[in-house]
Amino acid sequence: MNKKVIYLLFYCLATGFCLPAQEVDKCGHDLLLEQSLERDPAVADRMAAVEAFTQAWLADDANLAAQSREIITIPVVVHVLWNEASEDISNLQIYSQIGILNEDFRMRNENVGDIPDDFKSLAVDVGFEFCLATLTPEGDITDGITRTQTEWPCIGDFNTTTESGIPRLFYSILGGKDAWDPRRYLNIWVAPTCNAFLGFGFNPGQSVASQEDGVVIDTDYFGNVCNDGRNHHLGRTTTHEIGHYFNLKHIWGTKGCGEEDDDDFVEDTPRQDNFHNGCPTHPSVSCGSADMYMNFMDYTDDACISMFTIGQRNRMLAAISGPRAGLLNSNRCLFINRPRPDLGITVFPNPVDDCIHVEFNANFDNDVTVLLYDAAGKLIYEAINNASNIRSIPAKDLATGVYYLHLTNGSTKVSERVMVY
Ligand SMILES: [Zn+2]
Repeated sequence: MNKKVIYLLFYCLATGFCLPAQEVDKCGHDLLLEQSLERDPAVADRMAAVEAFTQAWLADDANLAAQSREIITIPVVVHVLWNEASEDISNLQIYSQIGILNEDFRMRNENVGDIPDDFKSLAVDVGFEFCLATLTPEGDITDGITRTQTEWPCIGDFNTTTESGIPRLFYSILGGKDAWDPRRYLNIWVAPTCNAFLGFGFNPGQSVASQEDGVVIDTDYFGNVCNDGRNHHLGRTTTHEIGHYFNLKHIWGTKGCGEEDDDDFVEDTPRQDNFHNGCPTHPSVSCGSADMYMNFMDYTDDACISMFTIGQRNRMLAAISGPRAGLLNSNRCLFINRPRPDLGITVFPNPVDDCIHVEFNANFDNDVTVLLYDAAGKLIYEAINNASNIRSIPAKDLATGVYYLHLTNGSTKVSERVMVY
């Protein structure tokens, strides 16, 4: 089975010089499943047990009724592995990815309006939010990011292994980076895959060892800062792989229309023969019905995918209630680094070590008074800031602790807690 995504766009440099189109697997999920089964045949039993749990959980309406009302915060640690200095990606690139996840899993993505009318009623707010962990497994304050230089230039490709086939990526002693407790964190390794694929995510039970459980994303496809005109530049590879992490299959199943095994085990996604490339036009028909090529679990270009379905959300809720339940009570995100549409601001990062950035949305206009107080109520910083600009407040010399940011703009007054470490 050949699941190549063919880049129809060429890389065109400013000079007008175009490099040849590349052929890259978008997602290594299916390939890695074959590898996992080779390394450990027990993977099949574990995944079958997860599926049995999932079906039983979904069959009880009370489970869904209880779970689907809550917003669930997923603690994330991002492990940056780099060989070339340019692969040591910026915090801003990482924050952009967290922001994209918080849009896509909350149905706040701006292209949600592109969903065709016949699928609109199926699109859903999954109710998951993501935050960079604020506490390490040992309980120390962290920004939720680790950075590791490695001697292995393609360490994310899953072929960079020991002679016995252990992927180096997941082990510090082998030149990679150890996971943080995979029961309590979603581990995301951002590493060069040298075009092996854009990313992959393990279904619950799929990884051979718990230390290898999580999501891997190629350095160039994490976040949307490296917008180079390619097709998967909007951070939705990570949305797709986290879908796998919460037990979603590809929307076309394995391939074909007829067999039970060809399905994705989701009732409200139409049966689909194969994946899509590029940006199709609705309706794109296979297996006798219009394909939901705009689903995050297809291979369609980032700009043209926009939805999870109710059935997919329900499978993800089953995962967070069973095999991924350790994330629910891990308390690894005391402060949540996310946009606050209710406040009209975004404060990032939070916690912070060198610089607090405050971005204002349309609730604010003209001059905003920005005040920062320490926990004892002492004024630390004061500025007037035009709402169209991001305000950056130096925090490098501040003592570790909680601070309170107060913003006033006419009759609008908001405040937000900030952790400095
Ligand atoms: Zn996939």
